Amino acid sequence: MILHVDMDAFYASVEQLDNPDLVGRCVIVGGISDRGVVSAANYAARKFGVHSAMPMYRARQLCPNGVFLHPRGGRYKELSIVIMGVLCSFSPLVEPVSIDEAYVDISGCATLFGGPAEIGAKIKARIKDAVGLNCSVGIAPQKFLAKIASDFDKPDGLYVISPEAVPDFIDRLPIGKVPGVGKVTNQHLDRLGIRNLGDARRYTENQLVARLGKFGHRLHELAHGIDRSQVHVSRPVKSISSEETLSTDTIDRTVLKHLLLKHAEDVGRQMRWKGMRAKTVFIKIKLSDFRQATRQAALPQPTQSSELIYRGGVALLNAFKIEKPVRLAGLGVTDLITGEIPVQALLFEEPSEGSAKWEKLGSAVDAISEKYGVDAIKKAGLVRKE
Ligand SMILES: [Mg+2]
Repeated sequence: MILHVDMDAFYASVEQLDNPDLVGRCVIVGGISDRGVVSAANYAARKFGVHSAMPMYRARQLCPNGVFLHPRGGRYKELSIVIMGVLCSFSPLVEPVSIDEAYVDISGCATLFGGPAEIGAKIKARIKDAVGLNCSVGIAPQKFLAKIASDFDKPDGLYVISPEAVPDFIDRLPIGKVPGVGKVTNQHLDRLGIRNLGDARRYTENQLVARLGKFGHRLHELAHGIDRSQVHVSRPVKSISSEETLSTDTIDRTVLKHLLLKHAEDVGRQMRWKGMRAKTVFIKIKLSDFRQATRQAALPQPTQSSELIYRGGVALLNAFKIEKPVRLAGLGVTDLITGEIPVQALLFEEPSEGSAKWEKLGSAVDAISEKYGVDAIKKAGLVRKE
């Protein structure tokens, strides 16, 4: 059995959680300028017809008394990590599909946690306990049905489709609910007399493919309750690195340092984006005779600052004896942790080299890059001399 969890109006619910004054009001999160777009609306706002992807000026017209907020991505990510952690305590097979949505394969959980409905209720309760937010849960023998089921009873829903109930559920499932059926396909199917998923069984696979192309295969399978997709567990990230083969081999340390600086910017950005910090930095050097070496060192404290990673990399390079011209240089980090720096590390020493300051700088650079492009702001050392 596969379980699909979807947080209810996630961004808007987090805003209400952090600011109880918002409870009972219409909360709309998104780009708040008039050219912005709605990312999330709570259920109060949805009653006025506001929905995600709607232009913000339209939402303001529909909901003039609403509260309009800019998204706080870092906060949502923080809670998402806690939620995914709760799911992982039920099953090792967890596939996050977005910040507020995941599949969990609960096939092996029955002896530990009870039947599907019981597991669903427990997961809802644990998430509520951990972060104070409601979610909706759908459970079914197939992934696509689990996703449909979580939407069936929203918000705060719990809907189980037992294996015996699948044929009947498919027969009565409005075709527009099937993943992959948009407006255009829906109209097309309507002309074929396919209004519920079960109606598609009146056509052979070849007939469906002739009329719908590749999607015909998929629709044929789904109508027969076949969904081969499984819960894919993404392996935890063990290291993040960046490397480059030089256009000409070199023994010039200035050139190599310049490369490390570029890699450190790249690696730092990825860590900040993933919300991770590293405890170890490493460099990788390949010589012209293809011999390869790596050197690694512990960082003074877990960090996601490009600058501090760069300094660690340079120290390793300085200690490295370059016997032959270098053809490839790389820099990476490993021993990754998620979330904030353990408080203990901060209690006993003033962060070395103003680590917090460097991390702030990194985030500020990210914000500028996000808005104006990766090349909009860079270290002076990375500006090419013309
Ligand atoms: Mg959601």
